[in-house]
Amino acid sequence: MSNTQGFSRRQFVSSAISAAAISCLPNGRDLFTGTTAPKSGTREIAQQSSVVLTITPSWRDQGILNVTKSPYAKLRNVPVHAVTIGNGFWAQRREINVHKSIPSMGKLLEANGRVDNFRRLIGKSTAAQRGPVYSDSDVYKWTEAVAFALQSGERPELRTAADKIVKDIVAAQQPNGYLNTYYVGDHASQRMEPKAQQWGHELYNMGHFLQSATAYYRATGDRTLLDAGIHFVNDFLLPNFGPGPDKKPLFSGHPEMELALVELYRMTGDKRQLDLAGYLLRGDSRIHVQPRDYVYHFCGTPFTSRTHLEGHAVRAMYACCGATDYYLETGDPAYWKTLNVLWKDLVSSQMYVTGGVGARSDGEAFGDPYELPNARAYGESCAAIGNMMWNWRMLAATGEARFADLLERALYNGINSGMSLDGTLYCYRNPLAFDPSGGDKIRNEWYDTTCCPPNLERTLASLPGYFYSTSGDGIYLHLFDNSELDWHLENGVGLKVRQKTNYPWDGSVEISLAPAEPTEFTFFLRIPGWTDNAEVGVNGKALAGATPGQYLPIRRRWSAADVIRVQFNMTPQFLEANPQVVENNGRVAVQRGPLVYCLEQIDQPEGVTLKDVALNLGAKSSAQFQEEFHKDLLGGIILLRHAGAAYGESAEHNSLYFRYSAEPRKSRPVSLTFIPYYAWANRTATPMQVWTPISRA
Ligand SMILES: [Zn+2]
Repeated sequence: MSNTQGFSRRQFVSSAISAAAISCLPNGRDLFTGTTAPKSGTREIAQQSSVVLTITPSWRDQGILNVTKSPYAKLRNVPVHAVTIGNGFWAQRREINVHKSIPSMGKLLEANGRVDNFRRLIGKSTAAQRGPVYSDSDVYKWTEAVAFALQSGERPELRTAADKIVKDIVAAQQPNGYLNTYYVGDHASQRMEPKAQQWGHELYNMGHFLQSATAYYRATGDRTLLDAGIHFVNDFLLPNFGPGPDKKPLFSGHPEMELALVELYRMTGDKRQLDLAGYLLRGDSRIHVQPRDYVYHFCGTPFTSRTHLEGHAVRAMYACCGATDYYLETGDPAYWKTLNVLWKDLVSSQMYVTGGVGARSDGEAFGDPYELPNARAYGESCAAIGNMMWNWRMLAATGEARFADLLERALYNGINSGMSLDGTLYCYRNPLAFDPSGGDKIRNEWYDTTCCPPNLERTLASLPGYFYSTSGDGIYLHLFDNSELDWHLENGVGLKVRQKTNYPWDGSVEISLAPAEPTEFTFFLRIPGWTDNAEVGVNGKALAGATPGQYLPIRRRWSAADVIRVQFNMTPQFLEANPQVVENNGRVAVQRGPLVYCLEQIDQPEGVTLKDVALNLGAKSSAQFQEEFHKDLLGGIILLRHAGAAYGESAEHNSLYFRYSAEPRKSRPVSLTFIPYYAWANRTATPMQVWTPISRA
């Protein structure tokens, strides 16, 4: 990235309100600058960075990640606005997201005092602080969701509501750049103290602040939030914290700041920001925590010394995102080696078939290898989102389809399940089996720790930015849905791509290309790893070489009206788990296309209970499913029916242990009905399971 840093500063007149905020500090003195707080109501002059930002690409044309100049990025992002998703699977979810989820979450953040937390600091509210220490981040994630919606040109009226909040947030920032609504007043003396660094989420909150500021800037060109974020980093963090005897050490109690700092560096070219991310990823030996906490926090020891995923799953995923971002800028081979070791660990022993991660409720953590319980699965929505974000970065580094496969798996299943179909209820945890008789309510409109809902909202709002990437050779298509791309190749030639499909219900996709002028380039078509085979044709002529789990490179001189047709085999498949996943022994999961399916009690014949059924597979390789499209069921789905067996009551059924018998258990035939996993728990609460036993009959 070119060095665009310029540290010319301008005098920045903050509102009277910042002054009110600083007066909350003990003895009226600023924690780090030692300046005496002015009396409330006086005007305070603060320094605010006016850093020169990169202008190539312009703010409008920066993608989810601005890796345009990242030396170790093979693929570049396409901006969110360049892709318009038409009627189809994601349009429906995204429409509900912007019309219901984002507005209702905005109201809930208000109703639960999360926005008042900022207003209290600026004299606009007398309400007491509410919510846990990380509550600021939820307001920031919500603002980021609005920003991504605005990048798509959706709901421009949301900007008015967001602008009001942005104004209050920025006004609550202290003159020295510090911003947090919890560590004020009686808590101010704990600010950035070692214990607060470990548990207080100050850096985590500000990492989300930076992400929201980045998305907001890319949506509007308005630097207000971004300048406040730069002010925090350049004037509060960098002068006071970091390596060296004259600075205090940092501990990234909840990784998140790392990835935000690298993205900031991509806009400012200020290498100090990248170096600070590297410092956080290395850890500082001056800070000592309990050995178990290096595991839990997934920080404090060099990232490059990690050999497996462990500890808090969201922390680990965000740390991996930050480390991949750091690699994309530095090319440090030690990072690349570790990232690949951790990714292999993820896919070989730590990930649910839904793309969810984090097996244990205790510590919201990864379990031992192959410890993937179904009913007790944690699978926090945020962790699945972290998984998607990490794979997006690995994909940028390599252009390898295995990362896109994983991204798609997490997106369609473990993430998509996190939001109800009506967009107002959210799963914090995403188990693979569930029995409501335990009294657990799985979908709720609000959690006191409400990290997941706005995280889901920002993910759906940013979705168009994940469809394509460009490279020096041409363009990559990652995700399938009705959509139109209006962008350009890296050589500047304009390119439109239109997808027509009914994916994921149908495996046929028609892709029309229209370069502004006939141009030779490679169209990298993703052939998903889940399909047995794919037929690809260009302008009616069959093309060989499509291999599941790879991009098919189609290089030719493309011109307007060229059409690629692809047909993926969508035959439902049974998946088995590694035998070391003991709960799944003798069971199979059902997948059709990118969608994992499940059984819900409510769909099964009268008198049939889930704990009492099995699948009759016959010759397993040729699954005999009946597919039925139901327009009015669960937003319109293809449900799958398959022959099964119901065992019913028996003597064995009531015994804990009994003698083995070679005789098959008595059963009666039933037809079992599967729905897509993402749609579960959207009707009357009944039991659900993803992994179903195979009949021994
Ligand atoms: Zn969460």
